[in-house]
Amino acid sequence: MDTQYVKGDCIFARINKTIKQYEYLTEDIETEVMIIGGGVTGAILGYYFSKNNINCVILEKARIGHGSTSITTSLLQYELDSNAMELKSYTSMENIIKSYKLGIKALDEIQEFIDKYGNRCDFKRVDSFLYTAKKLEKKGMEEEYDIRKEAGLPVEFIDEDNNPFLFDVKGGVLGKGGGAVFDPYKFTHHLIEVSCEKGLRAYENTEVIDVKYCDDGVTVETVYGHKVKGKIVIVATGYNTELFTKRTFGTKTTTFNIATSPIDNIEDIYKNVVTRDNRVPYNYFRTTRDNRLIIGGEDINFIPDIYNEQLCSKSYETLEQRLKSLFPNLNIEIEYRYCGAFASTQDNLGFIGKDPTNSKLWYCLGYGANGILFAMLGGMMLSKLYSGEVDKDMNLFKVDRFDH
Ligand SMILES: Cc1cc2nc3c(=O)[nH]c(=O)nc-3n(C[C@H](O)[C@H](O)[C@H](O)COP(=O)(O)OP(=O)(O)OC[C@H]3O[C@@H](n4cnc5c(N)ncnc54)[C@H](O)[C@@H]3O)c2cc1C
Repeated sequence: MDTQYVKGDCIFARINKTIKQYEYLTEDIETEVMIIGGGVTGAILGYYFSKNNINCVILEKARIGHGSTSITTSLLQYELDSNAMELKSYTSMENIIKSYKLGIKALDEIQEFIDKYGNRCDFKRVDSFLYTAKKLEKKGMEEEYDIRKEAGLPVEFIDEDNNPFLFDVKGGVLGKGGGAVFDPYKFTHHLIEVSCEKGLRAYENTEVIDVKYCDDGVTVETVYGHKVKGKIVIVATGYNTELFTKRTFGTKTTTFNIATSPIDNIEDIYKNVVTRDNRVPYNYFRTTRDNRLIIGGEDINFIPDIYNEQLCSKSYETLEQRLKSLFPNLNIEIEYRYCGAFASTQDNLGFIGKDPTNSKLWYCLGYGANGILFAMLGGMMLSKLYSGEVDKDMNLFKVDRFDH
């Protein structure tokens, strides 16, 4: 486990038995594309590259799916972290709408994978709900609703008159079919299994410790002294990018999740929606297939000393109180508490593409609350790019878009 960036009793790593163990690399090998990092992002890249018949290898320093993938809430939604009006100072409205629509495309792609290969990761397509419990913020919600409606997105406005939820809603936007939930650990393993049948090679316990570029490609060296040679290297290492670049990507925070024991009387309405409030810092919650509630948020400035139990306990306590106030009728017992690094960007988007100064160094970094959907887009866009096809929407995720 990446102990520096993940801490606590991570629900998805605990409730799942190890699905498969992968070998560590014991020889020098050659490939076309080296994907560094075996989290959900690396697995998604492995899937799209192998699907497009491109020879590729995943190198994971610890265990597959045990980095931030083991703690992601896996609350998937097309909307971004901030409302469209808040984002307008950082990007254009056209880009915001485009990224909403790309989010839906990414959700559809996950659905397509599930339809084709079976639902082994408790995937469920649901609605997404963004709301405020403050009267003063109702207008902002109405604006968000109007923007999405005008863009042709299927939305419904919820307020006190038609609120189907048991908690207080002054204004909210329900995005029909705009969300999904799954088990990220199972999804990661399923992707790799399917991809290995298409030619992907995946190695765990294989840390990359050095990278060297030459005219015809890249060579990386692993911790046990073996070399992997390829044409390009893709950094899918989540929040650990220092080995590959001095660039800083996004602002790091520490974010927290807690998960309850199974609850037998959760109303069905909560099983068909992923919810986020408009508070600062925000909270978000979802249910699981075995009727648990997971709530997350309470982000604080990044603590490199993630073992600071006192700070962690305070955030877990706040989340528990929040959950109890949202669901006073339920018997809530917290079974898992965990936290980890998280990074966000001004425009809420991740980074997909080539390094501006090195065409053999590529990135797929799903920063922001929609990291998994960005990774899906990264898989599609980068596998096309390798075959010479440039997706113009990749501009939204350009690595140097904040350079001055
Ligand atoms: C509490 C929390 C909740 C979140 N909730 C959501 C959510 O609801 N929805 C969402 O979309 N996103 C969410 N995120 C963001 C989430 O982190 C990402 O979307 C996603 O899990 C990141 O996956 P990844 O594969 O990029 O990173 P990771 O899972 O961290 O994988 C990176 C891997 O790279 C490996 N690695 C690093 N360095 C090397 C090296 N030198 N050599 C080889 N391997 C290396 C690591 O060991 C690690 O396994 C959440 C994050 C947190 C912390």
